[in-house]
Amino acid sequence: GKTVMWFRKDLRLDDNTAFNKMIEESTETDELICLFQLNPTQFLEESFNHAAFFNSLNTFFEHTEAKGVSIHFLYGDLEETFTELKKSYQEWDKIYFNKDERGFGRQRDQDMLAFFENNQIRVHSYQDSHLHGVEEIKKPTGESYKVFTPYFRKWLTLPKSPYERTTKITRSFEKLSHPLFRNGQKEFEKIVENINLPFDYECGEAAAEEVLKEFIKNHLHDYQKGRDYPFSDQTSKLSRFLRTGEISIRKVWYALNAEPDSDSRQTFISELCWRDFYNMIYFENPKQKTQEIKEQYRQLQWTSNQNAFECWKEGQTGFPIVDAGMRQLNQIGWMHNRVRMIVASFLIKDLMINWRKGEEYFQQKLVDYDPASNIGGWQWAASTGTDAVPYFRIFNPTLQGKKFDPHGDFIRQYIPELKAVPNEYIHEPSKMPAALQKDIAISCGKDYPSPIVDHQKIRSEILAFFKTN
Ligand code: FAD
Repeated sequence: GKTVMWFRKDLRLDDNTAFNKMIEESTETDELICLFQLNPTQFLEESFNHAAFFNSLNTFFEHTEAKGVSIHFLYGDLEETFTELKKSYQEWDKIYFNKDERGFGRQRDQDMLAFFENNQIRVHSYQDSHLHGVEEIKKPTGESYKVFTPYFRKWLTLPKSPYERTTKITRSFEKLSHPLFRNGQKEFEKIVENINLPFDYECGEAAAEEVLKEFIKNHLHDYQKGRDYPFSDQTSKLSRFLRTGEISIRKVWYALNAEPDSDSRQTFISELCWRDFYNMIYFENPKQKTQEIKEQYRQLQWTSNQNAFECWKEGQTGFPIVDAGMRQLNQIGWMHNRVRMIVASFLIKDLMINWRKGEEYFQQKLVDYDPASNIGGWQWAASTGTDAVPYFRIFNPTLQGKKFDPHGDFIRQYIPELKAVPNEYIHEPSKMPAALQKDIAISCGKDYPSPIVDHQKIRSEILAFFKTN
């Protein structure tokens, strides 16, 4: 018969559960076909998110071609293209894929199960993307966790699946010529031609492995302290490889476990657990992209201050740490975690703008966009998620800047117009005396905006906002 491997967010050959299983379980007479289905309704064109994903997909395609594993593209409506495929290949009787357990992908997987069943195609699907899947970690009562710390405690005690390095592909894969695939290939090439990323970076399995090694060698030892300082840039930068599956999460786990124990290692491990936690939370709360998890906050009357929203997006709020973060996002499609928290808190609690607008903006811009982590992060900042920051804990953007970018290095990196501002005023440039502004040739309010809100005043308003709503 014919067996299909359907790649999605698992763009690697190394330690790919479904791919390994397919090779293990097939016989020499089975014909193996590797597929990627391009569904235009899923595209978020003209976003870094989209461009970055296709950059990775293209690298994967070239990498697999070089290894003799051809990826065939199908373009169009999912069920229609699969129906066409089945018509042409009557003997298609097995499909392998790594499951998507939440959000759009979960719905797609569920819908397709019926299709496969109706067409007598046996499904072999696996949890591959996370250290623990969405239903693996429950309270003794069988309920799911809502709070991170007890979840993490349990998570630590459970065994993790082994990392199985794939050194050699033991099967051959033919390149099939079929009008469906020829069309898919053409459409794929068109998308790749139009990728427009204003920044450069390496993709692919080998690049991901390098990034992991470099992090462990140079930064892991100081992660505990260093991870909070955006300028020192000590975090792993693995997020975009994890979202495309260019690196196996088990590879990361075992590489870490080969290192001596330390607080830094433990903290890094807890971050990997947050990824599983938010994945589980999204599974449990499928409406969370548009709905506050905490019921009492579903009626909050957010303001729609378009002008302020534009300032936030462009990094023109007059709060240097917020602006530096937003400009980092706009320039490189990634933002440091501490700064993500600061800019999110600012949008929600200083501007009282709906967190969904921030979530959507991040969705367009992030090269590591992951709905579970992004929505989780936004609902955390909005105090509407499970285990979120309480509504009365409000980040003071100026103090956050002073604490986590004490010398203003990160600010100066992304806000060139503030380069000459002395440390004393870097977090509050509008407080510079006029003579100093003249000396260093910066006019605050003109070259760099004055703060668009009065944080102290806003504080009492936001408390009232959460209380009365
Ligand atoms: P490291 O510090 O090196 O962490 C290692 C890995 O742990 C990360 O790659 C990531 O997979 C995981 N991780 C770390 N922190 C978190 C977290 N808080 N939640 C879930 N997983 C975590 N992360 C995304 O991957 N995609 C997103 O779309 C995303 N949106 C976010 C939005 C907001 C408002 C906030 C506050 C956080 C968001 N995060 C998101 C989490 C976090 O900011 C990024 O994972 C991290 O900055 C990625 O950089 P890194 O790989 O160098 O992180």
